[in-house]
Amino acid sequence: MLKILMVTYLLLFLGDLLSTFFYHIPEHVFGSLHLKTHHSSQKTFFHYAVLSTNVLVMLDGILGALPYLPVAVILWKVSSIGVICGLILGQFHVWWRHTSALGWKTPKEIITFCEILGITTPERHWLHHHKSTQAYGDIFTFFDQPAKVWWRWLRFLKLGFKKAMKTKL
Ligand SMILES: [Zn+2]
Ligand SMILES: [Zn+2]
Repeated sequence: MLKILMVTYLLLFLGDLLSTFFYHIPEHVFGSLHLKTHHSSQKTFFHYAVLSTNVLVMLDGILGALPYLPVAVILWKVSSIGVICGLILGQFHVWWRHTSALGWKTPKEIITFCEILGITTPERHWLHHHKSTQAYGDIFTFFDQPAKVWWRWLRFLKLGFKKAMKTKL
């Protein structure tokens, strides 16, 4: 049982870590797909929860979920049930964190529970939708601070590269 729980947690932790640092933040700095599909205002719950059939929305969802796959393959040997539970919980969290679009409010007790465990609530994720440089970490809030440092580094690289290209021309 402990092994299943550990694998479930590890899958979500490592998946969110890789997704945040190798997809989400780089997309915010260099890309436009995530910003267009995920940070535009007044979209429906179906849109944000990747239940939409729009190809670009689905692509953003798939690319964000891809980093979970290598973690799932590695952890499969340790506990396949743990991996399946982690993937189901991860998918459930995608739907849950977008319920703000339905006007739902998370009960106080659940917010306190999530704050203790460092889990992103729908309210916190909604803040990210409105202010794209805040509240990083799709599942875990403790990725927010290192993600902001990573964002600043990548932005510095991007601006430095642009400057270097301009002086070359
Ligand atoms: Zn979202
Ligand atoms: Zn974002």
